[in-house]
Amino acid sequence: MQIVLIGIQGSGKGELIKNLSKIKDFTYVSVGALFRQEIAKKTALGKFVEPIMARGDLPDLQTTMKVVNKAIKKSKGDLVFDGFPRTTEQADALDKICKIDKAIYLKLNKSVAKKRLLNRLTCVNCQHITSKNEIKNLICPVCGGKLATRHDDTPASIDQRFKVFEEVTMPLIARYKKQGVLCQVDASKTIQEVFEEVLKVLNVCNN
Ligand code: ADP
Ligand code: ZN
Repeated sequence: MQIVLIGIQGSGKGELIKNLSKIKDFTYVSVGALFRQEIAKKTALGKFVEPIMARGDLPDLQTTMKVVNKAIKKSKGDLVFDGFPRTTEQADALDKICKIDKAIYLKLNKSVAKKRLLNRLTCVNCQHITSKNEIKNLICPVCGGKLATRHDDTPASIDQRFKVFEEVTMPLIARYKKQGVLCQVDASKTIQEVFEEVLKVLNVCNN
């Protein structure tokens, strides 16, 4: 089964993946995370995408497909794409490599999404996500690493990412609806509720 997750920044794609990974051995292809790994490793690709990501824009198709193809090559079994495709040209490229069975759209309004992002803290070591309301110090509850605001969770970059989402990514909702694979989930609910809703949609059992 091949699944794509679509949702505005802050809609909880990362949390959903964390929950899904507890129950099924999907291979997760999270393009943002793959780019951040390249940046951490200081590769040429990482150096190229770093300033583009920091301002909330999307690297070009060829660069994006490089990390996607590498991840697919290494993968086994079912795939979940997180934050990919984000453009029509990426969706066209993906259609050439695999057939999408479900597109899960995590629907959330911008004001709730922005509040979540401005509250978000990410562990620099294990990428665990938490919120400023939930913790008293900047120590990761999972690994003891340092919690920090992601470089692109600034008001300017958030607004730019929202703009790109609305203009470039939203048309994919109609595309997947037309293909008959779109499932819409209310992402304003709790992480657990969203997870349960997605399990129903995917028809996988949580035991
Ligand atoms: P968010 O969804 O909150 O922006 P991600 O970690 O998914 O967080 O993505 C962070 C950044 O990585 C994006 O702003 C963009 O620069 C880059 N990125 C992620 N997915 C893609 C994609 N499919 N195509 C191009 N760039 C991407
Ligand atoms: Zn951690």
